[in-house]
Amino acid sequence: MAAAPRPDLLERLAAQTAEREHAQLLRRLRTIDHVDGPWLETGHQRLLSFCSNDYLGLAQHPQLIAALTRAARQAGVGSTSAHLICGHRTEHAELEEALAVWTGRERALLFSTGYMANLGVLQALLTRGDVCLQDKLNHACLLDGAKLSGAELKRYPHADVAAAARQLASSPDAAALLATDGVFSMDGDVAPLRELATLCANEHATLMVDDAHGLGVLGPHGAGSISAADLGQHEVPLLMATLGKALGCAGAFVAGPAALIEGLIQFARPYIYTTAMPPALAAAALEAVQLAQTEGWRRQKLAALIERFRRGASELGLPLANSTSAIQPLLLGSADAALAAAQSLEGQGLLVSAIRPPTVPQSQARLRITLSAAHEEAHVDRLLAALKTLHLPPSAA
Ligand SMILES: *Cc1c(COP(=O)(O)O)cnc(C)c1O
Repeated sequence: MAAAPRPDLLERLAAQTAEREHAQLLRRLRTIDHVDGPWLETGHQRLLSFCSNDYLGLAQHPQLIAALTRAARQAGVGSTSAHLICGHRTEHAELEEALAVWTGRERALLFSTGYMANLGVLQALLTRGDVCLQDKLNHACLLDGAKLSGAELKRYPHADVAAAARQLASSPDAAALLATDGVFSMDGDVAPLRELATLCANEHATLMVDDAHGLGVLGPHGAGSISAADLGQHEVPLLMATLGKALGCAGAFVAGPAALIEGLIQFARPYIYTTAMPPALAAAALEAVQLAQTEGWRRQKLAALIERFRRGASELGLPLANSTSAIQPLLLGSADAALAAAQSLEGQGLLVSAIRPPTVPQSQARLRITLSAAHEEAHVDRLLAALKTLHLPPSAA
């Protein structure tokens, strides 16, 4: 009997893409031709954007650009190698030192992206037989890191500390790591960090916080969600955050006890087997770290814009979420509704992203509105006026 024909991988992928298109869930790439603060130009259209993660408005700051170009003139563009070979430059070392001081940790270690940092931490720390507890709404790369590690992944319902406690209790003998977003990327709410820290202390589990959306925005001097919760390295030994959001650059870091960092240098494969980030980028990020700490007015302005948006949206009866962060989702339910709303806003000159499954759970499609210190009050008012024309439902479907 003839064997069944071997499936063709590219055909299978094309069929999956066609299926997604049929379900109206196809993702489309858009080229941005020009950026000027919150304004974007794309296809000869000028749009006011509410979808970047540049929360402090630093991405185009002249001091960052000056630091980047100065360092590039001295150091060149590429780092030419991995950190452990000859890619680790003074610019990287200075940035790591500044990040450790800012976040109140013994040491910090740079990674090329946040995705790689999370893969690296989880793969280095966890192995088969361990358990990894994660909030159901954690970022995709934390989930992927747990899968890569071989540990048993247990996902607890969003922010449900009692459920996490039950999951921990059901594996009393396994080494355990609990990982959570500090600020949830699609919902904007803050994790119950104090309760999670108490649980982890009582159960001898290690707590890890991914503060991609908290660093620079929350806490004294923008030190992040852990500082805002009045916790430190003792309660949260593992802090990961990115340089590509509030800091307006790219890359990421892990900060914590010296022994953790030393272990990651030895065992975190996404750290070891990759080219170090360009030193000029590290120099720009160092400038951003200093501005984020010293220019407190950026956080104050952002907070005032968030407050203005929430007050206006509430007066319009819009389906606001329980978020006081720069991430302000409007829950619309169906993917069609979210897409139609985003298209209508775009017709009015506003760019807001429609977030659909599988990025968020079924029937929780939404507009993900992000605010920035680069916005002005008039921008927020213009967004509210446009949202008013959409006749959105008052609560999620
Ligand atoms: C963006 C993000 C990451 C990934 O960081 P990159 O540097 O963009 O790879 C990780 N975790 C969370 C919560 C994020 O929002």
